[in-house]
Amino acid sequence: MLQEARKLLKRVYGFDSFRQGQEDIIAAITGGSDTLAILPTGGGKSVCYQIPAMMLAGTTIVVSPLISLMKDQVDALRRVGVPAAFLNSSLGAGEYREVLRAALNGEYKLLYVAPERLDGSMFGELSERMRIPLIAIDEAHCVSQWGHDFRPSYRQLANWIGRMDDRPLVAAFTATATPEVAEDISGMLGLRQPSVFINGFARENLSLSVVTGTDKKRFLTRFLQERPDQSGIIYAATRKETEAVHEELLRQGIPAGKYHGGLGDAERADAQEKFRFDETRVMVATNAFGMGIDKPNVRFVLHWQMPGDLESYYQEAGRAGRDGEESECLLLFEPQDVQIQRFLIEQGAGDEGRKSVQLSKLYSMMNFARTERCLQQFIVDYFGEKGVQPCGKCGNCLDKSERLDMTSEAQKALSCVGRMKGRFGVTMAAKVLKGSRDKKILQFGLDRLSTYGLMKEWPEREISDWLYWLVAEGYLRMSEGQYPTVSLTAEALPVLEGSKTVVRRKSTSVRRAAAAGGEASPLFEALRQWRKETAAREGVPPFMLFFDATLRELAAAAPSTRDELLRVKGIGAAKADKYGDALLAITGGQEASGDSAEPNLFSSLDSASAAKSSGRADGSGSGRGESGSHLATYEMFQAGGEVADIAAERGISRVTAENHLMRCADEGMELDWSRIIPDEQEPLILEAVERLGSDKLRPLKDALPPEVDYFAIHGVLRKHGIRQG
Ligand code: ADP
Ligand code: ZN
Repeated sequence: MLQEARKLLKRVYGFDSFRQGQEDIIAAITGGSDTLAILPTGGGKSVCYQIPAMMLAGTTIVVSPLISLMKDQVDALRRVGVPAAFLNSSLGAGEYREVLRAALNGEYKLLYVAPERLDGSMFGELSERMRIPLIAIDEAHCVSQWGHDFRPSYRQLANWIGRMDDRPLVAAFTATATPEVAEDISGMLGLRQPSVFINGFARENLSLSVVTGTDKKRFLTRFLQERPDQSGIIYAATRKETEAVHEELLRQGIPAGKYHGGLGDAERADAQEKFRFDETRVMVATNAFGMGIDKPNVRFVLHWQMPGDLESYYQEAGRAGRDGEESECLLLFEPQDVQIQRFLIEQGAGDEGRKSVQLSKLYSMMNFARTERCLQQFIVDYFGEKGVQPCGKCGNCLDKSERLDMTSEAQKALSCVGRMKGRFGVTMAAKVLKGSRDKKILQFGLDRLSTYGLMKEWPEREISDWLYWLVAEGYLRMSEGQYPTVSLTAEALPVLEGSKTVVRRKSTSVRRAAAAGGEASPLFEALRQWRKETAAREGVPPFMLFFDATLRELAAAAPSTRDELLRVKGIGAAKADKYGDALLAITGGQEASGDSAEPNLFSSLDSASAAKSSGRADGSGSGRGESGSHLATYEMFQAGGEVADIAAERGISRVTAENHLMRCADEGMELDWSRIIPDEQEPLILEAVERLGSDKLRPLKDALPPEVDYFAIHGVLRKHGIRQG
């Protein structure tokens, strides 16, 4: 059975191995068990029901609320030769009848149906006349009131399934369910002793981080500058904010689209298509955007504000990196976001029970934003998956920054707030500490407070951030309502008395996701160009043909025969039949016309960066003329040799040997950085780079302790993918 599943995985999808959980889920379903599978967004749920559908006799019904996703999936299935169709409101009456006829005729392996289509008569007709081995229910959390996206049509559906005489297997899938919601789904759908899988919430290719207390606009500008060709989504909380961020990006010349509920259907569809086809690079959107869009090469998801619960957060953030490549998820968090969300919940509709569920979800979200634990682990725990280790790459795992003793600054701020007697908000408190001549300050006589101007050397903005940080840490409290005032909590007293110290992390630094994107090779570019043209000809988004990862592998492997081609991950027989000749013409051709003096390794190197590194003016012969010399150094280093010994043995200078290794790094070869950069120096160098930039090395060297040499600085820049001047 599983042998067959594995074969299908390779033959139909071109994947070599199952992701975590997929195989067990498929085994449970094909073994005849009802199933509840909780897999995160991008975890690969569709394979879990599509493969059983191919293995079981008859037509599997897939219930999904997402019309665009249905279409994508059906298109994708047909492309690889699996007969499939969908029934939803996007079909005209004629098409609808035709699909239904073919379905009743048993012509499909999979039939996707929107839940609102499955009313009593429809259900009756399908179940009487078709052989249905399995009903797969996608987005199953929609059946639960406790989920975050309850839909009455799902409740209906549950009723119909419950009433079938000889009911098929039912497999429910969702990306977001706390243990309580999972329980509820199972009960509502009447699952019979289901096999339950909670799996793969840890997304290894995502680096999560939370950024607090920063000028968001400046942060965003820099963030996007550092990722000039990456595609990403920015989620904002409101339409207004979406518009504002979008406008700002356009002003900066960044091709950006916008998407929110206030736009017309056509405008939204257009924005979505442009984004999918990589015509716009960044999408600014409210949470209305993303359901059902499968764009695999989203390299970052940035939350402009904190959402109201972790389910929504992780679902949105999880839209990054669906192709499995390194991607980043950033949450810009300001403590006042919590106030706003709380206000919305309290003012909102809904009974008290529902409100308190929402409030407790909000507090979990807030704790995530404030925790110093591994962020990935925090989320995985929240969803009830156990035993996952710290990810080693989130903002908190990477944060080796010093803790600063901020007790004296805290005392200044707290005593100022204390003297303002809970009558004013954070902005006013910051103005007093700054010593501002603002009209309102003078009007209220706040310039006469003894704390007036106590922090005048700080920028006002940073004083506000500092006050918000004190709120987040629980030393200050903000009132509810539209114009929250700020006052002391009991926690503040020991600080004011001098019996408690306050420490704060030095900074939250965001590092470029190493390796993501990287520098592209000419062959990769050629393949991408081909994909773009072919996709345009077929009228589908480029990723429907091949993912970036597949193209990258193709570029690296440069296959020249069909067998070699099939060994590339992401290329199955169907795709090889269809596109194999075209691909081989590109990859095979490249090999033949390549510079024969260069060893094979070079098929994937970026000639621009190689030229740059070999042009480094050390006059020591690492130039292109002696290509291959650096490889000899590399081999000796990889074999364990010390740089000094290698230099001596080869009769070259130490600097030359070092440059050889750096050149290899530029050419994309693996280096064991720990042998180049002493552990304790790395954070120092990164900190200096953050402070001084990376344009010139000399100021960096001067700012660092004398034992840090240029080699280590060069190494850190390359290891972290930081561009040099
Ligand atoms: P979701 O769980 O969000 O519905 P999908 O089923 O759309 O996720 O899968 C997410 C992506 O992962 C898809 O692009 C899919 O092709 C890919 N994928 C699924 N299973 C595997 C696998 N075993 N190996 C590699 N890629 C996979
Ligand atoms: Zn972590």
